[in-house]
Amino acid sequence: MPTLVMKFGGTSVATLDRIRRAAKRVGREVANGHDVIVIVSAMSGKTNELVGWVEETSPMFDAREYDAVVSSGEQVTAGLMALTLQEMDVPARSWAGWQVPLKTNSAHAAARIEEIPTENINAKFAEGMKVAVVAGFQGISPEGRITTLGRGGSDTTAVAFAAAFDAIRCDIYTDVDGVYTTDPRITSKARKLDKIAFEEMLELASLGAKVLQTRSVELAMRFKVRLRVLSSFEDNDDNAGTLVCAEEDIMESNVVAGVAFSRDEAKMTLLSVADRPGIAAAIFGPLADASVNVDMIVQNISEDGRTDMTFSLPVNQIARAEKAMDDAKASGEINFSQLVTDADVAKISVVGIGMRSHAGVASQMFKALRDEGINIKVITTSEIKISVLIDRKYMELAVQALHDTFELHKTA
Ligand code: ASP
Ligand code: MG
Repeated sequence: MPTLVMKFGGTSVATLDRIRRAAKRVGREVANGHDVIVIVSAMSGKTNELVGWVEETSPMFDAREYDAVVSSGEQVTAGLMALTLQEMDVPARSWAGWQVPLKTNSAHAAARIEEIPTENINAKFAEGMKVAVVAGFQGISPEGRITTLGRGGSDTTAVAFAAAFDAIRCDIYTDVDGVYTTDPRITSKARKLDKIAFEEMLELASLGAKVLQTRSVELAMRFKVRLRVLSSFEDNDDNAGTLVCAEEDIMESNVVAGVAFSRDEAKMTLLSVADRPGIAAAIFGPLADASVNVDMIVQNISEDGRTDMTFSLPVNQIARAEKAMDDAKASGEINFSQLVTDADVAKISVVGIGMRSHAGVASQMFKALRDEGINIKVITTSEIKISVLIDRKYMELAVQALHDTFELHKTA
């Protein structure tokens, strides 16, 4: 029997009624001749509540006990889902992570999956069980303790099961009906994509983050797991969602697949640093040690042996970064005349695998921004992405202008 993985996120199992609706979908897939592995999240809001309880009890908590507590939400929904299926006469049973066993490393609260043996579950399928309901987000460490995979980790559980069981597909049921060309709250012209390549999905993570955990997309790309994102709130048949798949499976696509943005960015410039070997290491070493997530980096042409270094970072890391730079200056590791911080910028990116074979995307992007009178502060490019930093107050306008310029409302 072909195996199908179906994952239901928190809003899709938020109440007993929602669990019943999800179970009906599972029942339909069983009737279609599939063995189904269902991965469930905790009921929406539950994990936040559990995390809150841990933090309130013990500010410097033991991560092993954090995992014991926060993994419990998924165990509840797994049991309830199995019971609901049994009530519908679908042979089902629940599995906690350790029962599978889903083996992870010992990095509590952010564990990596190491192995998913298939024997136990396959033996039950052979005995006539039709649905294995597995608690998402959790596993077991080599020491025999419960681990969790990091927030949003049930997506990663689902993809890992699809890879381990060689599933025909991994369906991720959520509260949106797919992946969009951009956030529909910014432009009503945003269009749901029928298909998107793994690489594009990874780059669009700032849009997709709410839809899929980035790690799950990486894993799907590595193991070529066909991922489908769809809504559990729509029962009509044309609710096909968005297929996240290999580039080869997409016949026609727009040069640009989507416009992503990140609102809370900042820009920092060190003025007049010595242009000598090792200067970049001397600047970015202390920033990394201070856990500053530097994204874009620009070094100017030097004049008289001095240069300016500019980089972008999340706005809530400014204080940390400034301290790291001031400390490095005080200790004599680096020297600069001034540190200039701009806390009001946003990053806008256009993404598409079509850029590899099409010239002129960058100039088209820059012209569209020029026509709106938007100044570009920093530019970076990769093979399938062009990003710019602009004043935050123009973010919406820039997204709309780029969406129009690349005609993302139209299908390829
Ligand atoms: N319940 C966990 C969380 O909220 C895992 C998940 O739902 O993916 O992060
Ligand atoms: Mg999620």
